[in-house]
Amino acid sequence: MSKRVEADYDVVVCGGGAAGVAAAIGAAMAGAKVCLVEKYGFLGGAATNAQVYAYCGLFQQGDEPVAAVGGVGREVIAELKAHGLPGEAFRSETTGNWIVLLDGEVLKFSLDRLTRRHGVEVKLHTRVASVARTAERLEAVTLAGMGGRSRVSAEAFVDASGDANLAMLAGLPFRVGDGEGHLQALTMPIRVGGIARDLTIDRAALQAAIARYNSQGDYPIQRTDGGIIIRLPLSHDMWWMTVDVALPDLSSESFTAAEMEARARANDYVALLKREMEGFENAYLAATGPQIGVRETRHPAARYDMTGEDVVQGRQRDDAIARAAWPIELHGEAGKPSYTSIGGAGFCHVPYDAIRAWGIDNLWYGGRTIGADPNAYGSIRVMGTAFATGQAAGVAAADHVDAGHRTNLARIQARLRRQGALI
Ligand SMILES: Cc1cc2nc3c(=O)[nH]c(=O)nc-3n(C[C@H](O)[C@H](O)[C@H](O)COP(=O)(O)OP(=O)(O)OC[C@H]3O[C@@H](n4cnc5c(N)ncnc54)[C@H](O)[C@@H]3O)c2cc1C
Repeated sequence: MSKRVEADYDVVVCGGGAAGVAAAIGAAMAGAKVCLVEKYGFLGGAATNAQVYAYCGLFQQGDEPVAAVGGVGREVIAELKAHGLPGEAFRSETTGNWIVLLDGEVLKFSLDRLTRRHGVEVKLHTRVASVARTAERLEAVTLAGMGGRSRVSAEAFVDASGDANLAMLAGLPFRVGDGEGHLQALTMPIRVGGIARDLTIDRAALQAAIARYNSQGDYPIQRTDGGIIIRLPLSHDMWWMTVDVALPDLSSESFTAAEMEARARANDYVALLKREMEGFENAYLAATGPQIGVRETRHPAARYDMTGEDVVQGRQRDDAIARAAWPIELHGEAGKPSYTSIGGAGFCHVPYDAIRAWGIDNLWYGGRTIGADPNAYGSIRVMGTAFATGQAAGVAAADHVDAGHRTNLARIQARLRRQGALI
């Protein structure tokens, strides 16, 4: 790979979730020297830090699971299977959508193996803390790790932090939530252990128990239908999504209050199961994640914001770099999700400009940070799509370095296809 300026890395990726892992591997497969920076002690993003144990968006809606994502997303599934997870498409009882169920430990280990195999330099326990830039380019990031602070320069950067932390530190403008300050609700997915492997969970009995609880309990359950309930592979624990908390703003005080309220809810709800549900006599709260699940924070300025109409119409375009296939899933009101299906061929294209930072030549977005209006965001934020947009961001960043800072979309598309990505 030809480099114009001697930098520490060709590409630095901020954030090791689905998007960041795919960006780092995509860039490495394109020949770049890559550094992947992650603040936790493991990769996986929301899947491993908030127990979001299902990949959505890998398949289109419909009677059969038609693949919408290839490339790194497909390679991750193959690695999960190699380490004992079924990894098959599974149709959710509540939504009818196709998902792939996860196990946190298998996922962490699989992503360690994959990033190593592709020669990505991973820095865990390390946070991108500040950014040095000129008018149109990022030059370097300051990393804060266990050994203190260090300056790392690169030719190109990917913001896959979910929260747009790199873009924010670089001083780019951003929208919070829907633009009027309204943020999608937080949810704390929990794992309930101590129930028999073959117990069929009686949803009608659960709904009745919730109705009784709601008349006098401390934390009324908004998901009166019982929420999302899935028996996890390997542990057979019950994965339960019913602990919802509204997020008024992005202050530390609000996150602290939300974490504590969610834990109180989780404990109360498991006590309810134990008290009222047959077969749950020995149930216990097996785990909450290292943090609560955060759906939405900042949206940094991109060159194009996908619209809800793009998604609903299944709009296809020549400047595509990925497919989005998950229905628009909105959590405007805590505990009351809504779904709108994708029309057309069952997926819409993500255009190249949605992953390009506004006003900065060497910064790309992957996953939750890409340009999207509030409705489109309800679709593109899922992890299957994050693999696809992340991989595209990594390949575009590597291509930028290779091509002497000139962008050529046709070449990026060709490189993505060679890596097995579906466009
Ligand atoms: C409760 C809940 C349920 C959901 N359900 C599903 C589901 O079933 N299936 C699905 O596919 N999606 C689901 N989603 C959406 C999905 O989890 C996220 O939108 C997705 O994880 C986005 O991927 P990402 O890689 O962009 O970001 P993330 O997964 O958020 O990863 C970002 C990473 O960046 C790291 N990071 C952030 N800032 C820094 C920094 N400054 N320095 C270093 N590292 C940093 C974080 O630690 C994190 O690991 C759910 C979300 C929530 C909250």
